[in-house]
Amino acid sequence: MQPFQNKITSLFKIDIPVIQAGMIWASGWRLASAVSNAGGLGLIGSGSMYPDVLREHIQKCKSATDKPFGVNVPMLYPDIDKHIQIIIEEKVAIVFTSAGNPNTYTSLLKQHGITVVHVVSSSKFAVKAEAAGCDAVVAEGFEAGGHNGREETTTMVLVPAVCQSVSIPVIAAGGIATGKQMLAAMVLGASGVQIGSRFIASHEASSHIDFKNAIINTKEGDTSLALKKLTPVRLIKNKFYHDVLKAEEAGASQEELKLLLGRGRAKRGMFEGDLDEGELEIGQVSSLFNKIVPAAGIVDSIWQEFQQQLRHPLK
Ligand code: NDP
Repeated sequence: MQPFQNKITSLFKIDIPVIQAGMIWASGWRLASAVSNAGGLGLIGSGSMYPDVLREHIQKCKSATDKPFGVNVPMLYPDIDKHIQIIIEEKVAIVFTSAGNPNTYTSLLKQHGITVVHVVSSSKFAVKAEAAGCDAVVAEGFEAGGHNGREETTTMVLVPAVCQSVSIPVIAAGGIATGKQMLAAMVLGASGVQIGSRFIASHEASSHIDFKNAIINTKEGDTSLALKKLTPVRLIKNKFYHDVLKAEEAGASQEELKLLLGRGRAKRGMFEGDLDEGELEIGQVSSLFNKIVPAAGIVDSIWQEFQQQLRHPLK
């Protein structure tokens, strides 16, 4: 492998500027440590973990890799204060915060020497994250799976806009699963990429096998944004999605949508494999791959393709 160094590899002390996104019900210690061992940065997704479960995953990740890894903290989930406390106690070196205000925890985490990155869907929030003291931002475009920006700005537009707005390093996300897409994002000004969907269809992801198979069978146009009145989220268009769409078209209120969503829909779909009634969060890019493979193979093939493409003349 050709040695490579830039702002993101230096910031995280990694070899390859590929970051595996923190994803609820998918990215536990197995996936995070596999990605870190392959030279990228693995993230434990704490959003679907009770505090004691998060501690266990951090400890198992430490045993499974001596490479850097991080924890993603989506701020709309419960028990965030306890999660932050555990992250500090366990001396996790890197935290990615998302779906909330970067002012809430950045300075506390920085006081403990933790590298902090915030996920944004607009230049406005990128500027806020830089002002809050974050070390980098993830600019996540509309193609991304799961929770998503209200303004629907695509990665192609968001990445250069965020790069113009801040001076901290920018990591591109949303719609990226190949080396060619990675190179495109870096030509737009990003110093690395964050990849979610591709890593769910890996052996190490803790997601249900039926969900993984549904992902690799999606075709172009099979995902859509839903629940914009609550928290916008990109889903596979299954029965639950169509029920939500019907309710939204009938003018359902926030309260009615909350009632329809109920509790634990995400777990039901992605962890328990209920493909009809569960919530199936995945990005548009899932239509571009069709195999469940080891996580290290994903990192390797993206990096190989990126390097080959760098040397390749443009058509
Ligand atoms: P829910 O709030 O519906 O249910 C909680 C789920 O998280 C359960 O499956 C529970 O597992 C698990 N869980 C993990 N850690 C904790 C914890 N520390 N405390 C409580 N539950 C925990 O979960 P969602 O993932 O669907 O939504 C999370 C948040 O996002 C909620 O605040 C929700 O209102 C909000 N939201 C979500 C949307 C979505 O699309 N999912 C849309 C709009 C808002 P177990 O069953 O084992 O207890």
